[in-house]
Amino acid sequence: MKEVLSGNEAFARGAYEYGVKVVSSYPGTPSTEITEHVAQYDEIYSEWATNEKVALETVIGASLAGRRAMTCMKHVGLNVAADPLMTVSYTGVNGGLIIVVADDPNMFSSQNEQDSRHYARLAKVPMLEPADSQEAKDFIGIALEVSEKYCTPVLVRSCTRISHSKSVVALKARNTPPIFEPENDIKKWVMVPANARVRHKIVENRLDKLSDCADTGRLTINPVEFRSEEIGIICAGVTYHYVKEAMPEASILKLEMVYPICFEKIKRFAEKVKKLYVVEELDRFIENELKAAGIEVEPLNRSVCGELSVDEVRKLFGKSVREPAFDPRQLPARPPNMCPGCSHRGMFYAIAKLKLFAAGDIGCYTLGLLPPLSAINSTVCMGASIPMAHGMDKATDGALARKSVAVIGDSTFFHTGINGLLNSVYNAGTSTVIILDNSITGMTGHQPNPGTGCTIKGAPTQKINFPKLLEAMGVKNIRTVNPFDPDECIKVLKEETAKEELSVIVTDKPCIFADRSVIKPPFYVDVNNCSGCTICTRLGCPAILWNKEEKRAFIDETLCTGCELCVKVCRFNAIHQRG
Ligand code: SF4
Ligand code: SF4
Repeated sequence: MKEVLSGNEAFARGAYEYGVKVVSSYPGTPSTEITEHVAQYDEIYSEWATNEKVALETVIGASLAGRRAMTCMKHVGLNVAADPLMTVSYTGVNGGLIIVVADDPNMFSSQNEQDSRHYARLAKVPMLEPADSQEAKDFIGIALEVSEKYCTPVLVRSCTRISHSKSVVALKARNTPPIFEPENDIKKWVMVPANARVRHKIVENRLDKLSDCADTGRLTINPVEFRSEEIGIICAGVTYHYVKEAMPEASILKLEMVYPICFEKIKRFAEKVKKLYVVEELDRFIENELKAAGIEVEPLNRSVCGELSVDEVRKLFGKSVREPAFDPRQLPARPPNMCPGCSHRGMFYAIAKLKLFAAGDIGCYTLGLLPPLSAINSTVCMGASIPMAHGMDKATDGALARKSVAVIGDSTFFHTGINGLLNSVYNAGTSTVIILDNSITGMTGHQPNPGTGCTIKGAPTQKINFPKLLEAMGVKNIRTVNPFDPDECIKVLKEETAKEELSVIVTDKPCIFADRSVIKPPFYVDVNNCSGCTICTRLGCPAILWNKEEKRAFIDETLCTGCELCVKVCRFNAIHQRG
């Protein structure tokens, strides 16, 4: 049977067909849907972990116990999982262990554009890169086979275009999953220095074997399509399709294992073509590997920033490109914005009103940086807000702590915020931390987390109570506020930032997608009362618009969720509810 699947659906199908038993992941665009689709297969235990490090450590445990296991994450998530990755490379595996990592060239929803291939080299583990949905599914099988044959975790690299585009996939039944006896081998699994020194040599030996393609157990890996002796192109992943369409006359060596590189095969290919090129997205990873191995590569004037495309590849080789029917830059800008009725908006309004410096974090609330709120001043990575505010506090002997806050969401707090807060408690920080608890992981598409009271499958589970958790962590000043009451937010912010002690303020209103019951009848503006003061428009609610002719606000009632925030800021009794 065949189906049209996205790359992410195909990765999940691969986990099903090739007998994966455990999948543990943290959501991150563009990888999120893999685990969401895995959750639909009852044969696989799946879970959202609190972060990528925990997820990888969980699947390492599953592998040790003798079952096939997989974790999925976005590129920046691999940074969080890097610690166990470096050492599981040494321990090796028992049941097959794969890590699917989805890069985001052009940064459609990421804070950097890092190239995960470097992690394969750093961790000395093999990396496979599929070029479409069929390969996304098939490569899970190959990766598990390589993992078990070579006793290594295997990285499988995706990117936004592979994860989110769709192509035809031939489906098969689920294989009978191999079951290995749980391992109790101290020399293999306890990485004290004496054991790790021995394992390091095994890792180096493993890399040598892996770079010999013929020894991978799959003769078709790294296939060559020979056409012309004039130009030979080495490419991998989605760039294979760009090259094939843009350069139909060229010979192609499609690298399916991008690390370690099979130099012998490439040398043979290079000998058959007059000019050898490497076409790859982001860093010059393959190109530099080839040059270091003494293989001559023709230069290409390619940027290491952003995505490639068929037209970009044509341009690289001096070919003409079709003029676009219109210039996309002429389209009206549609900047991202918090949803109408978002429970974060009121707190950001209060932060902006008090002109506080806000050390922000990763999540929907990052959008508080955009005008008209303009209420976020820094965003670095998951969990950075609290330690950054702590650092500003210590650097200025508390002076900046009186004028700043750290802002973090519930899922991000569980991810890596807890550690930062513990550090502030332990080191007598005096900053003010705001946990915007909307009971969901919003930005990646509303996944449950430890604060929502349900699992990935919707089954009820323990719900973490923030005030109790904070109390147990040693926080003395804990306040809970209603983010839809800006006056209350301003009052509490003033009180807590003034204290020369650590404070945590928790907002406790759910995301409108987490709890639809919070949606109420819409509001409208009574133009007779509206003074045109524009305060309500400064909330940045997409439902509040401005009538230029009449110089009055009006509300798009199809968007309004009835959150009442605008009613609370209007001083002229101009906003009323329908019904
Ligand atoms: S806050 Fe009230 S008075 Fe001011 S523009 Fe909005 S609706 Fe009109
Ligand atoms: S009540 Fe006001 S702030 Fe809330 S969604 Fe409606 S228009 Fe926006």
